[in-house]
Amino acid sequence: MPKEQQVYAYSTVLMGSPILLKLFEHNEALARQVFHLIKHYENLLTANRSPSEVMSINLAAGVHPVRVNPAVFELVRIAKFISLFPGSLFNLTIGPLVKCWKIGFQGNRVPQEEELQSRLLLCNPQDVLLDDIAQTVFLAKTEMEIDLGAIAKGYIADCVQAFLRQRGVSNALINLGGNVQTLGKPPDATGWLIGLRKPFGAPDELVGIIEVINKSVVTSGIYERFFEQDGQIYHHILDANTGYPLDNELLSVTIISERSIDGDIYTTLFFGMGVEKSTSYLSDLPDIEAIFVTRDQRVICSSQQHFRFTLLDNRFCQH
Ligand code: ADP
Ligand code: MG
Repeated sequence: MPKEQQVYAYSTVLMGSPILLKLFEHNEALARQVFHLIKHYENLLTANRSPSEVMSINLAAGVHPVRVNPAVFELVRIAKFISLFPGSLFNLTIGPLVKCWKIGFQGNRVPQEEELQSRLLLCNPQDVLLDDIAQTVFLAKTEMEIDLGAIAKGYIADCVQAFLRQRGVSNALINLGGNVQTLGKPPDATGWLIGLRKPFGAPDELVGIIEVINKSVVTSGIYERFFEQDGQIYHHILDANTGYPLDNELLSVTIISERSIDGDIYTTLFFGMGVEKSTSYLSDLPDIEAIFVTRDQRVICSSQQHFRFTLLDNRFCQH
């Protein structure tokens, strides 16, 4: 029998999330460098802790433009661009609303209607003014706040993948609190096996298994961060049209793609579009694949050209 290739797993907590790196060599120094790289980007991009470049942009809202690192400028530019898609749920200026709900943080509560309405006035992506030459970001109104929480992990996962490639690694996996990015596959297997969590289930309860080679798998689910008040669930994906958590037939959206940042972008966009519109949109995106889990226990997969899905929980019905 061939000797099974040993996997080495390294873990830590960064960005408030568990981080897991899998390698097929024992290389603690490399793992340390990867975690250091993640920390570097977290320090630039977080909206929750000072000093970060995103915090500097937010603190200067309505006062002055802030010159930022090229990576931050690029990410803000992408985030603004997606926010301006017609009908996009994605909104990079959602910060005031996120802070108001505090979902996933201590003190979460349903805000007063007037409070929500006044915060919504601060959530217009057109008010993010970018100067390409000066590499500055200016938020036009005081108290505006950008929040890159929905795409930062994907961006960083792609940076880790590029770093590992540069170091000659051809088989590895990085999991940034739900954003999984892979290189190659485990040497002795047909692909990486990634669990699709059962919404509102225990962390080890799975709806099914996704198998990929060299792909990113990103899931965004309303069960990831939420609180309950008077029998109603309030989750962390907010709708800047209403001020409330998004409410439609979806429990989770998973994207299988080359780049993890695309996974982040499309999970949020498709959440907003719902299953039907997303499915027709997907037919024009051959490199992006999706799995939708709905409230009525359906699992809807796109073409499965770039992944394989195995249903494990037969209370769900696969389409
Ligand atoms: P997770 O952080 O659980 O992986 P997501 O990638 O779906 O989740 O991102 C959710 C985070 O994005 C929220 O915690 C918040 O910071 C931010 N966010 C919430 N609603 C929106 C929105 N409509 N557009 C952009 N960002 C959002
Ligand atoms: Mg995301």
